[in-house]
Amino acid sequence: MQCPKCLNEMEKVVFEHVEIDRCDECRGIWFDDLEHEELKVLKGAEIVDDGDVRVGKEFNKIDRIVCPKCKTRMIRMVDRVQPHIWYESCSVCNGLFFDAGEFNDYRELTIIDRFRDLLVKERR
Ligand SMILES: [Zn+2]
Ligand SMILES: [Zn+2]
Repeated sequence: MQCPKCLNEMEKVVFEHVEIDRCDECRGIWFDDLEHEELKVLKGAEIVDDGDVRVGKEFNKIDRIVCPKCKTRMIRMVDRVQPHIWYESCSVCNGLFFDAGEFNDYRELTIIDRFRDLLVKERR
């Protein structure tokens, strides 16, 4: 599969049972429908997002991309909880593209949130 941003080849990366595609060049990550939800909760999954955050920020400026799977124009999405995270979504196949560093950013809050939930439960 070709990276929708820098057009280099993407490689398959498997973490536990979740298989994703990561770009060899810009290290952006492609998720098929709901794979990001699965990977988000797996312990140690931050190693998958090994790109340079600065490179990711540069590539984040590119927002007119075409889905590498079904060739549909992708839509820029803004994360509801963390509005500084922009990622691209395909409305046809539900694929998602995160620039380098974005997935870990997205993931981090989830862990903090869960921790907060635990603390709240303990106080009750
Ligand atoms: Zn790329
Ligand atoms: Zn698509």
